[in-house]
Amino acid sequence: MSVLATDDELADFRKLCRDFVAKEVAPHHAQWEREGICPREVWLRAGASGLLGWEIDEKHGGAGISDFRFNAALVHELFRQSLTGPGFGLHNDIAIPYFMKLANEQQKSRWFPRFVTGELITAIAMTEPGTGSDLQGIRTQAVPVADGWILSGQKTFITNGILGDVVIVVARTDPLAGSRGFSLLVVEQGMAGFSRGRNLEKVGVHAQDTAELYFDNVAVPRENLLGEEGKGMTYLMQNLPQERLTIGVQAVASMEGVFEDTLRYCKEREAFGQPIGSFQHNKFLLAELATEIKVARTFLDDAIAAHVAGELTPEHAAMVKWWLAEKQQHIVSRCFQLHGGYGYMAEYSVARHWADARIQTVYGGTTEIMKEIIGRSLGL
Ligand SMILES: Cc1cc2nc3c(=O)[nH]c(=O)nc-3n(C[C@H](O)[C@H](O)[C@H](O)COP(=O)(O)OP(=O)(O)OC[C@H]3O[C@@H](n4cnc5c(N)ncnc54)[C@H](O)[C@@H]3O)c2cc1C
Repeated sequence: MSVLATDDELADFRKLCRDFVAKEVAPHHAQWEREGICPREVWLRAGASGLLGWEIDEKHGGAGISDFRFNAALVHELFRQSLTGPGFGLHNDIAIPYFMKLANEQQKSRWFPRFVTGELITAIAMTEPGTGSDLQGIRTQAVPVADGWILSGQKTFITNGILGDVVIVVARTDPLAGSRGFSLLVVEQGMAGFSRGRNLEKVGVHAQDTAELYFDNVAVPRENLLGEEGKGMTYLMQNLPQERLTIGVQAVASMEGVFEDTLRYCKEREAFGQPIGSFQHNKFLLAELATEIKVARTFLDDAIAAHVAGELTPEHAAMVKWWLAEKQQHIVSRCFQLHGGYGYMAEYSVARHWADARIQTVYGGTTEIMKEIIGRSLGL
C-alpha cells in the first residue's frame, strides 16, 4: 500500500538528505574510494537520521511512508555528486521492497527493526558467473530437506556483497519446473558454508563493495523462504521496474550534477583570452546539453508520478532505464571533453561521474534487454 508523504514532509526529507550527504558522506567519500568500501558507521548514522527503511511500519521501527519520491530524494542527493559508495539505494529501493511485500510476521520482527537502524545491510543476488541477462540460466541450487534447503552455488557482481548481512538469493528449488522452479531464500551472515570472495576491483563506483558470494551446502531453514516456493521469477519481474526507475533517478541526478559543475568550469576557464564557454561551439553544446537534461528530467518525473500512482508498467520502466542511462553516457562524456585534461583527473567531479556512469547501461538489465522488454510489449 502506498502511504504518501505531504509536500511539507517531502521538503523536510529532501533537506535531511542534503544535510546528511553534505556532513556524513561528501567529506569522506574520497577516502572510501581508496578503501574500496564504506564503513558500517555511515550506515548506522543514516539509520539514526531516518534515512533507511522509512517504508517499514512504525511497529517495526520505520516511518510507514511508502512514497517513491523519498527514495528518489536520497538517491538524487548522492548521485548528483557521484557519491556512489553507500549502497543505500540497493537497501531502500531494491531489497527492502521484496521484504515489504513478501515477509511474514515472524520475518518482519526478526529483520525489520535492524534494517531501519542500519545494523543489518541487505543485498540481492541474482547474477552468476555464467548468467546475468538470462536469469532462467541460474544454476545456484537449493535441494529440499526436511526443514528447509541445502543451498549450493555461486553469485557474482553483488552490490553490498561484502557488507551485506541479509542476502536474498535467487535459487533453483525445482530443476524440473522451468520458470516456476525458482525461489527467494534469505541467507544470513554467519550461516555455515556461506562465504564471500574478494571485493571486486572496478572501473568506477570505487567506494561500493561489489563481491562474489559462495554457497557451499548452506543449510537454509524453511523460515528463511521469502514469499512462496516456486514464485521467485514472478517476484523478480514485479520488483525489477522499481530497480530500473532508481537507475533512472541516478542517471538524471548525475547529468544535473555534472552539468552544473561543467557550466561553472566553462565560465571560469579561459583560452585564447576568453572563457571557454563563450566559444560558439561550446555555448551551443551547453545549450543542447541543458535542453537534453530538461527532457530527461521531465521523462523521469513523469515515470516517478506513474510509479507513485501504482501505474508504472515493466515496459515504461525499461524505457526509463535504457534511455536515461544512455543519455547519461552522452552528457557525461561531453562534459568530460569540456574539461580538457582536467576532466581526466580524479580530483575533478567530472572524472568520477564519467567513470561511475559507465555501468549504468549494464546493471539492472542491459540496454539490449530493456529493448527486448519494450519490443515484446509492442507485440514483436
Ligand atoms: C557494479 C555492478 C553491480 C551489480 N550489482 C548486482 C547486484 O546487486 N545483484 C545482482 O544480481 N547482479 C548485479 N550486477 C550484475 C548485472 O545486473 C549484470 O552484469 C547484468 O545484468 C548483465 O549480465 P552479464 O554481466 O552476465 O552480461 P550478459 O548477460 O552476458 O550480456 C553480455 C552482452 O550480451 C547482451 N545480450 C544478452 N542477451 C541478449 C539478448 N537477448 N539480445 C541482445 N543482447 C543480449 C547484453 O546486453 C550484453 O551487452 C551488478 C553488476 C555490476 C557490474
